[in-house]
Amino acid sequence: MSKDDLNIKDNTSLFKEERYVQQRENKKQFEAPCSEQETAEALAYSKSAEYMEKNFSRQNVVINPHKACQPLGSVMAALGFEKTLPFVHGSQGCNAYFRSHLSRHFKEPTPSVSTSMTEDAAVFGGMNNLIDGLENSVALYKPEMVAICTTCMAEVIGDDLNSFIGNARIKGVISEEYPVAFCNTPSFVGSHITGYDAMIKGILSYLYTRSGIESKPGSGAESGEKLNVLLGFEPYTGNFAELRKILAAFDTKYTILGDHSGNYDSPATGEYEYYYGGTKLEDVPQAANALGTLSLQKYTLKKTQEYISGTWKQQISALSTPLGIKGTDKLLETISELTGLPVPASLTEERGRVVDALMDSHPYLHGKRVALVGDPDLLIGLIGFCLETGMEPVHIVCSNGDVDYNEVKFKDEAVALLAASPYGSEATVHVGKDLWHMRSLLLNDTVDLAIGSSHLKFAAKDADVPLIRVGFPVFDRHHMHRYPIIGYQGTLNLLSLIVNTILQQLDDNNSGFNFELVR
Ligand code: SF4
Repeated sequence: MSKDDLNIKDNTSLFKEERYVQQRENKKQFEAPCSEQETAEALAYSKSAEYMEKNFSRQNVVINPHKACQPLGSVMAALGFEKTLPFVHGSQGCNAYFRSHLSRHFKEPTPSVSTSMTEDAAVFGGMNNLIDGLENSVALYKPEMVAICTTCMAEVIGDDLNSFIGNARIKGVISEEYPVAFCNTPSFVGSHITGYDAMIKGILSYLYTRSGIESKPGSGAESGEKLNVLLGFEPYTGNFAELRKILAAFDTKYTILGDHSGNYDSPATGEYEYYYGGTKLEDVPQAANALGTLSLQKYTLKKTQEYISGTWKQQISALSTPLGIKGTDKLLETISELTGLPVPASLTEERGRVVDALMDSHPYLHGKRVALVGDPDLLIGLIGFCLETGMEPVHIVCSNGDVDYNEVKFKDEAVALLAASPYGSEATVHVGKDLWHMRSLLLNDTVDLAIGSSHLKFAAKDADVPLIRVGFPVFDRHHMHRYPIIGYQGTLNLLSLIVNTILQQLDDNNSGFNFELVR
């Protein structure tokens, strides 16, 4: 076969061909479109200050919210445990959305099954679907544990997971001992972070309770230094690797509770396997005896943290995503406090190198106005990082509600963080707002950079602002999730990403003597 035979055009070039251009023109007669002038006028109005006021007063409609639904988070959480099959009780279309959303971000398959509820199950209840589904998936995919969450449909009709699973055992579909963890994830409230938290808590409490172990914090399996770590709804497989590097430098024993990095970074060997890596199921009850638990997403993991401190009686040190120098300093101090071990010299040296890099780039970052979008813990980390580089956060949008931890609300923490720096004086934090609000903000009070997920690209393009892709999901760039953004190495990665975008802009917008060789 010649290589010309493989000259298959992608959609970008194919649909520019005259026949497709003509086809789209012909279709317009059936679509009764507005005239070009009407479209241009509506577009111009949507960019105005008057429209922005109307946009911010809307009450009953959400446009492009920056969040996904609860069970999506639960599926990610279930994939953090060894040979565990995520099992969605509800409609197949919901599960298709979770799988495709996660797979488009990680560029890896997402093994997750559903009970495929349709009209009859919606009327008579989904028990038969759940029992048949359990029987089939255990036989076909041979998981060591099944982790069940629910979609809106199952929640609206009030399906009782606990009794359905009990009936599956009575029917002999699964044995009495076969592990099935579950959580309820009604998606008309909360978001992917709520669902992640619900499933992690569901799995930890289920495996601990069935083990019969009574927790003795600090007694540790082999050593009292053993530490538990929760990363939360973590879209960066690289962050798991970075945290392991840091903990190895401390030379402490630890258990990551919920590690989906194996499933989302599996090698291509020619054979597809359903399960890679994950926290070992037998390690979960032992984790109750650790010295303490380090959480890197305190707002995401609220219920899990309450369970660990309440039932395991363990010390919890809860942070937000440790970005930047100060964020990483806090992470290392916390590990040191929890384990009693000193901060390793290798990490202090790494810190110095990253501070040096920050100083090199500072002239290009100082005073840059930025817009930020993300989940609460990521936003706290990003705000801290921007302030320490001299960038000025201006618009901050968090579509999740105003979540709280230890009676401190996300918005209050963000506002206090901004108020503590002269670079935060122009910032406004918009909680519960969406990306259509952000579009108005970008168009009416312009910034130099937008930082957020791929969903922000449309508003950023309308406002002609470069977008730095950070968070979840990143669909339209490759391999970003492999590079850590936490720790000193993550700080350097984030810095490179931002400063090189600014330098590229300088090259794009300048010519002649301003088109400099050295920046
Ligand atoms: S919001 Fe409800 S119906 Fe929609 S995908 Fe999520 S679970 Fe399914």
